[in-house]
Amino acid sequence: MTLQVYNSLTRQKEAFVPLHEGRVHMYVCGPTVHNDAHLGHGKTYVNFDTVVRYLRYLGYQVLYVQNITDVGHLLDTGEDRMLKGAKRERVHPLQLAETYTRRYFRDMDRLNITRPDISPRASGHIPEMIDLVRKLLANGFAYESNGSVYFSVSKFDGYGKLSGRRAEDARAGHRIQVLEEKRDPADFALWKRAEPQHILRWNSPWGEGFPGWHIECSVMSTKYLGQPFDIHGGGVENKFPHHDCEIAQAEAAAGKPFARYWLHNGMLMIRGEEMHKSLGNFVTLEQAFERWDPMVIRFFVLLSHYRGPMDFTVEALDAAGRGLDRLLTTLRNVRRRLAAGAPVGSASQGTLALLENARRQFEDSMNDDFGTPGAIAALFEMSREINVRLDGRQPLPVGDLQAIDSLYRRLAGDVLGILPDDLDQELGAGLANDLIVVLIDARAELRESRQWKLADGIRNRLSALGIRLEDRPEGTSWTFGRTPG
Ligand code: ZN
Repeated sequence: MTLQVYNSLTRQKEAFVPLHEGRVHMYVCGPTVHNDAHLGHGKTYVNFDTVVRYLRYLGYQVLYVQNITDVGHLLDTGEDRMLKGAKRERVHPLQLAETYTRRYFRDMDRLNITRPDISPRASGHIPEMIDLVRKLLANGFAYESNGSVYFSVSKFDGYGKLSGRRAEDARAGHRIQVLEEKRDPADFALWKRAEPQHILRWNSPWGEGFPGWHIECSVMSTKYLGQPFDIHGGGVENKFPHHDCEIAQAEAAAGKPFARYWLHNGMLMIRGEEMHKSLGNFVTLEQAFERWDPMVIRFFVLLSHYRGPMDFTVEALDAAGRGLDRLLTTLRNVRRRLAAGAPVGSASQGTLALLENARRQFEDSMNDDFGTPGAIAALFEMSREINVRLDGRQPLPVGDLQAIDSLYRRLAGDVLGILPDDLDQELGAGLANDLIVVLIDARAELRESRQWKLADGIRNRLSALGIRLEDRPEGTSWTFGRTPG
């Protein structure tokens, strides 16, 4: 089966065929860096990271662009997110952007999210945005009004084709106070006149101002990926107006299609409710990492399909942690045996057939619109059967163990990104613990045979390494930690 993806634009699953053979050009709307990333960001970027990883696994050369919004993103109230944050922290808006961009990547790194190939910042693309606005003015899709420029939605036939919303809905549902300067309340800003107190401002043919939010994505995606490009991703909550506006701007300016496949991921819910500061259920990733290993959060996200909503509860996260540990335990056991020296021998037909079957199931699920739940189910089934073989009377030969390890690396590591880097270090730590227990047992036997000098020698040498033994009636326990002096 070849890769099928659900295209939000056509509202159906389609065979995925990139524009250029072997290459995929992909764009995903990035964060507005005015605050710390929250669980919703975690879900979105794990979802799209897994898409990128799977495309690469299939052999595509992927160029992945994800923007950083550091200017122009207004709240429904008309307030500028960056300026609001800058005021809160008493710093320059671009200082705020720098701080939260770094923190964003730190959090994404911890979730084992591959960094985008290009992370363009909106503030670094103002001349290109001005060019696009000029083009739209020149071909009649936009108009200037009092130093601002608006896109005229009634001029573009396809407006709302992604979300299925019509301009009338936008007019009726308009929450922002309708500005006198717009000809139609549904029109949206391409460029805004800067009021005197607005810090982020640039010269333009229409006076000093700043770009509207939507235009950065039209500009930065096509600048680096061409037009049309293959995949545009983003949160379902951004379908309208953001993505429909991106399409309108890019297609009206260039007279050709914008993005070929639109992928939208479902929202993160907290106990059935949307996450909102006002509901008091807002959780930043940093807060979540205090309780759960980031890999557990990543694994939890992948347990549900990217398009669906995902309900975040403490119990579900804890259960995900136990599930991930079961998968990793199998792999730990395989690697421990490899490290300990397994019998020489090539992989058996039985093991190869088991792995081949698991790989096929995994790929079938992923090929069906990136079905990570089915892919994870295939890994669980595989690991159950591997456990049976590991527990069998015949020790598995090196060939079997290597084949298992390598498939884990490709599927759980490369594609799902759920293998911690420190798994091998952890193995080392496990081995060290086991060795200390061996020494404690040897010392106990020496003491039983009254060889006090040798027994004390073991104790003293362990102590010099910072390992302190404590003899209790029920046995000897140990702690690690060098005491000062
Ligand atoms: Zn965007």
